[in-house]
Amino acid sequence: MPNSMIKKPLENVNGVLYIAGVSALKLAEEYGTPLYVISENKIRENYRRLATAFTRNYDKVRILYSAKANTNLSVLKILKSEGAGIDTVSAGEVFLALEAGFKPNQILYTGTSVSDEELDYILEKGVVINVDSLSQFRKMLKKTVPQTLSVRINTEFGAGHHEYTVTASKTSKFGVDGKTAMEIYRMAKNAGVEKFGIHMHIGSGIMQVDPFIKATEKLLETASIIHKQLGIAFNFIDLGGGIGVPYKPEETEVDIENFAKRLVDFFKEKIEEYGLGQPELWLEPGRYLVAEACVLLTKVNMVKETPYKKFVGVDAGFNTLIRPAMYGSYHYIVLANRLDAPLAENYDVVGPLCESGDVLARDRQLPKISEGDLLAILNTGAYGYAMSSQYNSRPRAAEVLVRDGCRELIRERETLQDLVRGQKIASWLKG
Ligand SMILES: *Cc1c(COP(=O)(O)O)cnc(C)c1O
Repeated sequence: MPNSMIKKPLENVNGVLYIAGVSALKLAEEYGTPLYVISENKIRENYRRLATAFTRNYDKVRILYSAKANTNLSVLKILKSEGAGIDTVSAGEVFLALEAGFKPNQILYTGTSVSDEELDYILEKGVVINVDSLSQFRKMLKKTVPQTLSVRINTEFGAGHHEYTVTASKTSKFGVDGKTAMEIYRMAKNAGVEKFGIHMHIGSGIMQVDPFIKATEKLLETASIIHKQLGIAFNFIDLGGGIGVPYKPEETEVDIENFAKRLVDFFKEKIEEYGLGQPELWLEPGRYLVAEACVLLTKVNMVKETPYKKFVGVDAGFNTLIRPAMYGSYHYIVLANRLDAPLAENYDVVGPLCESGDVLARDRQLPKISEGDLLAILNTGAYGYAMSSQYNSRPRAAEVLVRDGCRELIRERETLQDLVRGQKIASWLKG
């Protein structure tokens, strides 16, 4: 039976998993495991599908890739070459965006709990700033008057695949309420800011358009009040990121044509009703562009049976991929070296960390697994490597880019030496 999760850029070639025309076995042999394998073709495809669906309905659409999902420079360059701008959340991401060749005016910075040092860096680089609090804006104004200013609004209505990924609600730390926004825009206008945007980002892993429509309604209502009271014309209205992807075989992908049409129709109707002119519509997708473009290859170190459970121990743990441990997320797993083997056993797939929570999949139906087998964990392109750590003093994994049968290392595997990089032994402990 064909496996519905094995679809482009994944292929079953005589029982072996291929990614964009490259054998998973060969990649594991050449670069070692755990290994993140990223498909350039798939990222481009995702971008074009999304961009086409939205621009078909409104020609002033700008897509800003949300860098925190995957900050590998090659990934940033791929999206830049597609015409994306970039959405950043730290000085580090602004730095990486500049390294990848984005121009300051293509970079949007949305911080929260922003330090003075970070603010100085952001202002010095001249990127577009989306403020998250009144205090941040006051601090900014003392240093300089930005040419463009955007404010993140808490629409008090959010959504997401997990409580931790909902980023707008009455009790959320993100954004400001309408009254505070009014104060910020008033101060900005008086100070001489010339261009304005308004922003929301309501959560992550959202499969339906309705939460976006509901939050957009609130955002545009706020924009309309500000427009009326202060006479501010918005150059852009940023609806944030958060579009989800399917992780389980029974989930269906977002019908992006329909999603875009419904959201943009609503947007157009409201900006017309409120007399907001023809602002640019900005989007900040992270997960949607990169999640499905990557598999994590991991080798089986151990198979163990207890009176209660069967365990498959692999070389990737929550140091490599934290989503299952952190959010209880599901990632589909295939036996990359024997794709046609029938499902036979129920396993917990666990990592090498000394932590009970180091579980990548629980009670998962898999073929009979042997030590030395190669597993592929699918859809790990978003919040995979980016959230990895050296916990348990395990050097981080490597990343490889594949495209049309070619492969190239795009991040070296860390070594044991990387575990002491930057460390200094206190002078009184030396000798
Ligand atoms: C994380 C984040 C995004 C992207 O979220 P996805 O769910 O990956 O699309 C967009 N905007 C902001 C401000 C974010 O913090």
